[in-house]
Amino acid sequence: MEDTEFDFESRIVSTDFSEEDADNENALRPRTLDEYAGQEKSKEILKIYIEAARMRGECLDHVLLYGPPGLGKTTLAAIIASEMGVNIRITSGPAIEKQGDLAALLTNLAEGDVLFIDEIHRLSRSVEEILYPAMEDFALDIIIGKGPSARSIRLPLPHFTLIGATTRAGQMTTPLRDRFGVLLKLELYSTEELAAIVNRSAGILNIAVTEEGALEIASRSRGTPRIANRLLKRVRDYAQIRGNGTITLESAQAALAMLEIDELGLDNTDRAMLRTIIDFYGGGPVGLETLAATIGEEAITLEDVYEPYLMRIGFLSRTPRGRCVTKLGYNHLGLRYPEESRPTAQINLEETD
Ligand code: ADP
Repeated sequence: MEDTEFDFESRIVSTDFSEEDADNENALRPRTLDEYAGQEKSKEILKIYIEAARMRGECLDHVLLYGPPGLGKTTLAAIIASEMGVNIRITSGPAIEKQGDLAALLTNLAEGDVLFIDEIHRLSRSVEEILYPAMEDFALDIIIGKGPSARSIRLPLPHFTLIGATTRAGQMTTPLRDRFGVLLKLELYSTEELAAIVNRSAGILNIAVTEEGALEIASRSRGTPRIANRLLKRVRDYAQIRGNGTITLESAQAALAMLEIDELGLDNTDRAMLRTIIDFYGGGPVGLETLAATIGEEAITLEDVYEPYLMRIGFLSRTPRGRCVTKLGYNHLGLRYPEESRPTAQINLEETD
């Protein structure tokens, strides 16, 4: 079981925000929609809505951004506020514990402001109830008194735009989801888009990088800008000590090999996760909860952080009965896919039907 004990906290390719990112996180954040690479579909939709709202002199409709961590939801929220020429207040679902916390935030907004709630699916039901009239009628319903003499009064709020971010739109309640006028799904980035992000960040951090070097980092960043920026900084250190300071194809490859990140961006953890499914569950299907228990991680983390990329590159498939490692996944690990056992069983079943 030795190799199934993972150190999830210190993963270089973790999509979670880490201390290391805090360094230059702000310097690296794009400030305008034009600087924001990729997500063309979402950007186009936003441009239209922002322009229309500005022409009418109104605030933008409430926006829900969803997609895996590190794809630029917080960044996009800040850009929306700046394109609308308003202030942004940033908070998160778990930080708003009581109804009063949210009421305080709402009453402190100025007309037109953006309120950004990260991890909005983690709001409690009672806090959510305050949010409904706030989003719909820009009003705060307050109950005064208790028992039979209790009565409700309605306080007007400034008009504002709520931007919610979530890694799991499916976990939000329907009444909350329905109150967002604009729903945008952020997608994993292509290698070319990530290379553009690496080049831009290198320029800001004064790092010399060749085209091939940038592409190499991009292709191992699991479709995620946060990882691309992090790998760029790690590879820079390597190029400084072992090379002449410029990130080339060779120095990028050598540095990433040293970090045990393979040519597809998988690290030991991903490989061990695939191996667990293969070694313990014959390649699957295995239920998410069972898998999570075997490797000692929360099911939510597996689903949000690991699966999107493994599925996108076709190494993992999600079936109603659980997760399976695909032929591509087996091949990547240098293992033979057990062709006979599973597909044949399926064909036999169909034949007897
Ligand atoms: P999320 O809120 O989805 O977890 P963030 O908005 O915090 O992600 O983005 C993580 C980092 O990735 C940011 O520091 C930013 O520099 C970078 N980033 C994200 N999206 C883009 C993009 N489209 N273009 C350039 N950099 C980006």
